[in-house]
Amino acid sequence: MPHTLTPPHPTTTRTSATELDRQVRRLYRLAYHANRRRRTLTNPNASAHAVTAAITRLARVLAAAERLLTMPGVAEHEETPYARSFLTAAERQLNAPSTRLLLIADAAHQAAAHADTADNDLHVIVFRDIEQHCRHLVDTAHVEPVLGRRGWPRRDHAASDHLQQQAAQWGLTSHTEHPTMPPHQPTDHPAVPTHLVRQAAERAAARARCAAGIRCTECHRTYGAVQVNLPGTWLCTDCIPTVNARLTARGYAPHVRPIDGGTPQHGPYTVHVWNGSGRGGVSLHCDTPQRAQFLAETERPFNNTGYTIYLADRTRE
Ligand SMILES: [Zn+2]
Repeated sequence: MPHTLTPPHPTTTRTSATELDRQVRRLYRLAYHANRRRRTLTNPNASAHAVTAAITRLARVLAAAERLLTMPGVAEHEETPYARSFLTAAERQLNAPSTRLLLIADAAHQAAAHADTADNDLHVIVFRDIEQHCRHLVDTAHVEPVLGRRGWPRRDHAASDHLQQQAAQWGLTSHTEHPTMPPHQPTDHPAVPTHLVRQAAERAAARARCAAGIRCTECHRTYGAVQVNLPGTWLCTDCIPTVNARLTARGYAPHVRPIDGGTPQHGPYTVHVWNGSGRGGVSLHCDTPQRAQFLAETERPFNNTGYTIYLADRTRE
């Protein structure tokens, strides 16, 4: 729903200077409040909760400011234009496509999580792609009058229109109006670009590979490895003697062996995904060795992502 700041009705009512000053100060409070809420709507990583709260509060603040501006003398006050510039920017942001994209991004995020639970790899890939594109466009869309950035070039507008259309086809936009409702599963899917179909196939292949469990950290080939008494090490039956032989050759007296109960079917497991060429890392949690290996092979947030799998509950050792 669009909000407009209507010009005041001309009036001859006399208002005391004190009263007028009080009203202008109130207008400034509203303007600064509107500006804080506006900034939430330009943050590409704003949570759905923050976005919906900002939308609701912003609508109220703008309505209050609109009422204030119709009061005698307020609109004509010499300090009003500056306050009004914040209100106009907030109003523009409230109605901006990027605000709709933020809501779509969150709906897509939830739909992807839902699809992941249902092992629907195509939907995971498609919804994550939509979320990523939405957040990227929000990032480039900031209307920052101070910095002279005036929103998108034409091709970004086209991309935004396309994303909103896509989101509607995938049933993500009805969700954006009712954030508590689960996304409905449309039966008539739009065509999926080839590169996403390929990514979904790769994800499905990883899921199939990981059905045997954790991959051996020695040969990197065999799945279904067990945890041994070396930190962060999971070995297949062939590699246990290999590692023992290598350590013996180096002068150690190893006794590398599987840890009793070290590879439980119901974890909890932690997968630490780290940046191989810099700083940063993310810990993911799951219940089974299959899921742990699957996360290790499919969650690649860095260009050069490495991973370590371990049992979250160390007392089980
Ligand atoms: Zn092995």
